[in-house]
Amino acid sequence: QFSALVLEERDGKVTAGIQRLSDDRLPPGDVTVRVKASTLNYKDGMILKGIGRLVRSYPHVPGVDFAGVVETSAHAEFKPGDEVVLTGWRVGEVHWGGYAQKARVKGDWLVKRPSALSLRQTMAIGTAGFTAMLAILSLEEHGLSPDKGEVLVTGAAGGVGSVAVAVLAHLGYQVAASTGRASEHDYLRSLGATTIIERAELATPPSRPLAAERWAGAIDAVGGTTLASVLSAVKYRGSVAACGLAGGNELVTTVLPFLLRGVNLLGIDSVMCPKATRIAAWERLSRDLPLGKLDALTSSAGLKDLPDLADKILHGQVRGRLVIDVDEV
Ligand code: NAP
Repeated sequence: QFSALVLEERDGKVTAGIQRLSDDRLPPGDVTVRVKASTLNYKDGMILKGIGRLVRSYPHVPGVDFAGVVETSAHAEFKPGDEVVLTGWRVGEVHWGGYAQKARVKGDWLVKRPSALSLRQTMAIGTAGFTAMLAILSLEEHGLSPDKGEVLVTGAAGGVGSVAVAVLAHLGYQVAASTGRASEHDYLRSLGATTIIERAELATPPSRPLAAERWAGAIDAVGGTTLASVLSAVKYRGSVAACGLAGGNELVTTVLPFLLRGVNLLGIDSVMCPKATRIAAWERLSRDLPLGKLDALTSSAGLKDLPDLADKILHGQVRGRLVIDVDEV
């Protein structure tokens, strides 16, 4: 038997509770993992609250990522005792996820723990930090380098934003961090931001389709009007990596930044990302994310804390990243 956070749905309302489950409740899959840690991402908040119809079948074990030790495996790449990491593949949405002491998944979805990171550190990074690195890889592929100028990160005090700021600063970029929380300015500077931009500055629609050219690149976790504002101020041939929707999923803009400045709008998806790119992103995270900064942006909680924390992350009140200890029930 193992403990899990189980979501049940009654009359359209989703409730969460910790239950003891027997191994035969685990879904089909060729690898069973003793989960050691999971994390809380924005999407987990949506799933825990039953928002966005991401989960279609209950009872459901949420948790879009986990790290742990292989218990049994019928997959050629993995054997008992291997330490593995899972992000994405719709685990925690369509498939049972990481808010449990055990998970069973397809081995094809797992990657080996990067040797420079502990299992806990992989979850301190988690889907959010992994996505920040995918955004940086894509910006680099489109020509971004530190000599091109300042890079903007929106939703900077959140999970994607904090990891993006820390990695970009380590790579030698001048980083402007946009936040709505005055209390987090010092925190963002400690991660390496050189300029703070008030969230409100980007939250009103741009008055003209093209503003003064300011950003060589941007990583946007917010979407909506913020993304439209950012696009209007990107430098000639600069790029914006669109990662998130914490401020809305609509985008009202004009084609002028694309036609007159050759701006690139880069879509970032961490969920179905191919395995080779995943391994490359974890390698870069091992190298380019200083572990002292990772510790500084990480806090911890237990399975039992998740229902309360879901409200917090949906209201933009979680700082950085949160590791979930699945044995704290
Ligand atoms: P998070 O920790 O909650 O960070 C989001 C941040 O956005 C907040 O900390 C806050 O930053 C800002 N924010 C929140 N509400 C806002 C609002 N109404 N208007 C403007 N800014 C707001 O969440 P996360 O886990 O980092 O995820 C960030 C976004 O990326 C989410 O939308 C998530 O769904 C998305 N995401 C996408 C992928 C992908 O594969 N594309 C993967 C992971 C995450 P400040 O307090 O600093 O302003």
